[in-house]
Amino acid sequence: METLSSGLKTAALMARGRLPGQLVIQITDRCNATCPQCGMRKTNNFPRTRLSTDGIKSIIDAAGEKGIQAISFTGGEPMLLRKDLPELIHHAGKAGIPYIRSGTNGFFFMNHHRPEFGDKIKKIADELAATPLRNFWISLDSALPHVHESMRGFDGLVRGMEKSLPVFHAAGLYPSVNLGLNRNVSCRTKKQPRPSKATLETPEASPFYRAFADGFDAFYRSVINLGFTIANACYPMSMDDSQAKEGLDTVYAAASPDRVVCFTRTEKALLFKALMDTIPKYRSKIRIFSPLTSLHTLVREYSGQQNGHDTYGCRGGIDFFYVNCTDGNTYPCGYRGTDNLGPFQDLDIQSLDKTAHCLACDWECFRDPTELGGPVMEGLTAPWRLAARMARDNAYAAHWVQDLRYYKACDFFDGRMAPRTTALSRF
Ligand code: SF4
Ligand code: SF4
Repeated sequence: METLSSGLKTAALMARGRLPGQLVIQITDRCNATCPQCGMRKTNNFPRTRLSTDGIKSIIDAAGEKGIQAISFTGGEPMLLRKDLPELIHHAGKAGIPYIRSGTNGFFFMNHHRPEFGDKIKKIADELAATPLRNFWISLDSALPHVHESMRGFDGLVRGMEKSLPVFHAAGLYPSVNLGLNRNVSCRTKKQPRPSKATLETPEASPFYRAFADGFDAFYRSVINLGFTIANACYPMSMDDSQAKEGLDTVYAAASPDRVVCFTRTEKALLFKALMDTIPKYRSKIRIFSPLTSLHTLVREYSGQQNGHDTYGCRGGIDFFYVNCTDGNTYPCGYRGTDNLGPFQDLDIQSLDKTAHCLACDWECFRDPTELGGPVMEGLTAPWRLAARMARDNAYAAHWVQDLRYYKACDFFDGRMAPRTTALSRF
């Protein structure tokens, strides 16, 4: 009954041209890792800070009052605030937020050979499982443990993860592995030559495409072997000159100009296509969050095939927001640092301009739900436009229907539920 009433509320919201609200709160920019793909790596010298627990609670209360449905506690490294995190998650649960997420770079999986390791992991798993946390992500940058560990600066991490996953599962929490797309995913140590635009005519023949398709294959095989049951992919968080030209000025320091995470438009088209072509092979074996609908749109966008009106404008700054830890202010997302919306508590969401047009980055936290929810909203507000869109791009329509069926089989990636193998086996 409760599910039905919340489903009806969501439908009513979407019929008014809104998506269920999402808030990403950067609780700290402190980090203990060395990731080259991120501006918050510990070797980057800038004054670090955190939001106060009371300050975050006040933001959470405001989120509950404004009807926000999903909160992510991000960092830096959120688990550096391990003492406060359970309290914040409990607070979000009490404020009526049903979808609560947080995650880790996994630093505490180091030293798995030490006698106290098992007790430490059980304590962490029990602590998190006792909260209403729905999803807990663990980052992994490559199928090759030594590549991931050298990027993050943590030895022995991957074996520690493998030992810890059964402990988390026994506690009732199914962590998702978070792959940050980067050049090292390709598993090829030799530098790939830059693919020319002509390669887009036969992408599968391109060495760049093959390197990444093989890398994604290896990645999904390895995480299944490690014991993960949910996987997500974070699209490259680059910040280069072309994005600066589009007026982006990042506030979320997770973006980086490093080559490891910066791709040309042609490379992005091949990268996203390699991912889109690999995912269906593993959908029956592990719950993969990345929607084919989004990847299809990104491939078309970066191949120059997408018309502006074919892509749903991102809901960042309309239904989705980001709170930055350095000033405690709200932004449409982590990239639009020039659009300071002030304290979240004071934000009047209803009065904001609802025209969704921004496509300036690929941040999957906002682009994926936009792309999946867009057709539902359009079907309720302008069904003729949706019908025309689906008729123009049959492949998009097929991906979208398939994604929805798959999401249902995955229980909408509920990280508190074991995978339903029979439901997944249909994919
Ligand atoms: S990606 Fe995460 S773990 Fe790595 S430096 Fe950035 S915040 Fe830290
Ligand atoms: S596409 Fe979305 S996440 Fe990216 S800059 Fe625009 S509003 Fe922000």
